Amino acid sequence: MKFVMRRKGLLVIIGLCICVVLIVAFFFGLYSARELKKIVSEQFNGQQLILARQVAHEIENSLNYAMQELVSIRYIVQHGMPISKALLEGVYERVRGKGIDSVGIVDINGKTLISAGRDLIKDLSSVFQKKGLTGPFLHFLTKKKQILVLACPLTEDKVAVFLVDVYKFVKGHVDKIRSGKTGYAWVIDQNGYFIFHPIKKFIGKDAFKARHEEAPYFSFKEINILQKKMLNGEEGTGEYASLWHGETKKYFNKLIAYTPVHLPYTSTIWSVAVCAPEQEVDAVIHRAYLRHFFLQGAVIFALLLIGLFLLISERRFSDLLKEEVARKTEILKKSEKRRRLLIEGADDLIFTLDLNGRLISANKATLSFFSKDKEILGMDFGVLFHWSEQQSKRILEQLSRGQTVNMEHTIEVNSQKYWLNTKFMPLNLGDIKEILCIARDITEIKQAEEQLVNAEKLASIGTLAAGVAHEINNPLGIIIGFCNLLMENTPKESQSYKDLKTIEKHALHCKNIVENLLNFARAKGDGYKIADVNKSLEGLLNIVKHTLEVNNIEIHTDFAKNLPLVRGDEQELQQVFLNLITNAMDAMDSKGRLFISTKFNPDTRCVEISFQDTGCGIREELIERIFDPFFTTKEKGTGLGLSISYGVIKKYGGTIICKNQKKGATFIITLPIAEK
Ligand code: ADP
Repeated sequence: MKFVMRRKGLLVIIGLCICVVLIVAFFFGLYSARELKKIVSEQFNGQQLILARQVAHEIENSLNYAMQELVSIRYIVQHGMPISKALLEGVYERVRGKGIDSVGIVDINGKTLISAGRDLIKDLSSVFQKKGLTGPFLHFLTKKKQILVLACPLTEDKVAVFLVDVYKFVKGHVDKIRSGKTGYAWVIDQNGYFIFHPIKKFIGKDAFKARHEEAPYFSFKEINILQKKMLNGEEGTGEYASLWHGETKKYFNKLIAYTPVHLPYTSTIWSVAVCAPEQEVDAVIHRAYLRHFFLQGAVIFALLLIGLFLLISERRFSDLLKEEVARKTEILKKSEKRRRLLIEGADDLIFTLDLNGRLISANKATLSFFSKDKEILGMDFGVLFHWSEQQSKRILEQLSRGQTVNMEHTIEVNSQKYWLNTKFMPLNLGDIKEILCIARDITEIKQAEEQLVNAEKLASIGTLAAGVAHEINNPLGIIIGFCNLLMENTPKESQSYKDLKTIEKHALHCKNIVENLLNFARAKGDGYKIADVNKSLEGLLNIVKHTLEVNNIEIHTDFAKNLPLVRGDEQELQQVFLNLITNAMDAMDSKGRLFISTKFNPDTRCVEISFQDTGCGIREELIERIFDPFFTTKEKGTGLGLSISYGVIKKYGGTIICKNQKKGATFIITLPIAEK
């Protein structure tokens, strides 16, 4: 699942990256297009400038050439050669291609002496007077006619003259110029009048006014600024808005390059401009764009393809994963069901705890063992097992270190003691950290073990006791006999008599032990006698009643009526009951209450006899040892009373257990009823 999440995240990131790349590519494309346009426009204008310069040079060169021709005529004259019409016609032939209309020799009054080409204008005298006849010069005859006079004095009274039709002359150089597909050149003179323009009606007009007249509502601010620079003789490039281009009338943004034309032998400057609409550049840019967008498109397409591929493979992968998850889930469900069945069907108590020792889950066996329903869930296991806080803390600590804890312990449930073998195991299932507990009820095994040990102990003690008793009994009889004899002959007040009395007392104590031992050895008798428990008890109580009264012990009895007969010898059972009553008396230290009850338990088909006293009780750690032969806490005790009693009860198939009450001890005897 984590992997799928990570994969999805990756896809989202890739998708976002593609979007970002596309957006960046788009803006980059726009930016680069703008930059490209700027660069191409600059380059285009650079080319237009070259064209303008070329035109300017051609005009300058043509005029220079014509002037040189005039100077060469003067040279001929200075060398005394006559100027004939044929010579002038030869000159005319050479210069007519440069836009020279007429060639002639005139006198200083302007009278034509010889001419070639068109007729010369007659009134040139004022021109010569104005300029003086010192060297070659260039003169505009009139503004309107745009006739240029190129003159060179030959002698004091003769002048060689070329007349140039400015329009024709300039047209010859400018008309052929093409910038891009539709771009053209135009020329203005030093006063801002169009010398040449593809729109014929502009020719001879003031450029500023002509534009304004054509479109009075439109602002020609940009071109006017540029034109002023042209009139100043500057060279440069720029852009301007216009409402026409040649004969085409619409809004145009135009690119322009301009350069001055320096006319020879005068300070007059014309200016040539080459202009073209921006669309010319757009065509170039479109070609570049096309390449650029093709590349960009290819990259985007590749990115989209990659994205699509990733998407499809992710879909396929997630489908596969889903199928796999469904299959695994099914397997898991089955195995979980099997596990549940196993756990629920187990006789062992199986339950889990959280790391704080609280019950998370429990199987049926656990719930029925504690005779509780689900309310034990959430309970502290220490509380459930009646353990001290320290003990449960110690177990949890061991588990937190990853150790498994295995222990045998007792537990009291509904006033009944059980032995459990409990195993605590830390479970580390990735995120799940729990404690698994499996407890097995080993009460029966324990009891069997206990019985075996006691039976073995008793068997060996019995053999030993019989031998020892036999060997000691006779010498003891002799000791007591001789002691009595000596006492008869000794005065009662003497020290010797007292000493003999002590010997007798201890010897009698020994004899008592020996008799008990013999009883113990004899206990292995026939296990098939029948006794009435209530009758045995009543008979016994009649005998010990007085002693109990003397010791301030109240007797409370609760004997069940119609109690069935049990298997056992009445005398032996009385011996057992007497042992228990004597022990209770000893424990109560001359004051207390003794409760004796009998009842029939139909479930176990046993008679239960309980002796409950209000004495000192038995220390918990000693409970297990009280049935051991010779275990006693009394100064003068033999430690045989309970072991003999145990032997007797066992012989008749019964049990005898001891419980500590809040105050005092309780002994419970169960004896199987004598079946008919
Ligand atoms: P003895 O009475 O000679 O000591 P028992 O076998 O009868 O030998 O008892 C063993 C020990 O069990 C006693 O010494 C005493 O410590 C303990 N005991 C038996 N019965 C009781 C009782 N009712 N209350 C307290 N302690 C008892």
